Amino acid sequence: MGVTHHGRTHRLDLADPTLREWECTVLAADPEQGIVLDRSAFYPGGGGQPPDHGVLLWQGVQTRIVGTRKGDDLYLIPAEGDPLPPVGTVVAGAVEDERRTRLMRTHSGLHVLCGVVFRDFGALVTGNSMEPGEARMDFNLPEVPPDFKTRIEELVNAEVAADRSVAVRVLPRAEALALPDIVRTQSNLIPPDEQEVRIVDIVGLDVQADGGTHVASTAQIGKVQVVKVESKGRANRRVRVRIVD
Ligand SMILES: [Zn+2]
Repeated sequence: MGVTHHGRTHRLDLADPTLREWECTVLAADPEQGIVLDRSAFYPGGGGQPPDHGVLLWQGVQTRIVGTRKGDDLYLIPAEGDPLPPVGTVVAGAVEDERRTRLMRTHSGLHVLCGVVFRDFGALVTGNSMEPGEARMDFNLPEVPPDFKTRIEELVNAEVAADRSVAVRVLPRAEALALPDIVRTQSNLIPPDEQEVRIVDIVGLDVQADGGTHVASTAQIGKVQVVKVESKGRANRRVRVRIVD
């Protein structure tokens, strides 16, 4: 699918994660399948980051978008009962800012957490999930160091305060895979057929292959609270965080 398109849809969210409104044309609209646009800034979900919500506005009508479905095309799921714009209609798309911005802050916050835990405790990520403002990340960490919860909260917030820039770039596959520690998980998640790999670099802290939307620098994350550290299996530690204003 590459890093700029999904099926027939040109993805605007990857090039500009701050984009919230744009004009586009409807390529397909089916109550079962969903709506396909030629250009879309809706993040379709992936890498633990859930899809965006938002709205399509056309001819005085509103179609609320409540989810996505990834197939050969990128399908937007309309709210039940909302009218569908006919194929060929020019619509104004809008992503719900509150949800997306909070998800960007949360996602970048998780990368800071992952970077700190790898740098200072040598632990790899085994899984993660997030909702706007709330997230969890699992680490392979057989021995939990003393004061682990307090220490990671301090370390993460120090990196937030340092306001490191978050740089996104696209590299040819071979070049990306040559970077040390590029996939900061225990399994290689880069699909074998992808020729280009998108890299999210929290400069000086953490470099990862990643398809998500991120803030421009770590100060935009806000304060990160470590809510809980739980044991999930012999070596697996689950860290729950909350992003607060
Ligand atoms: Zn990520």
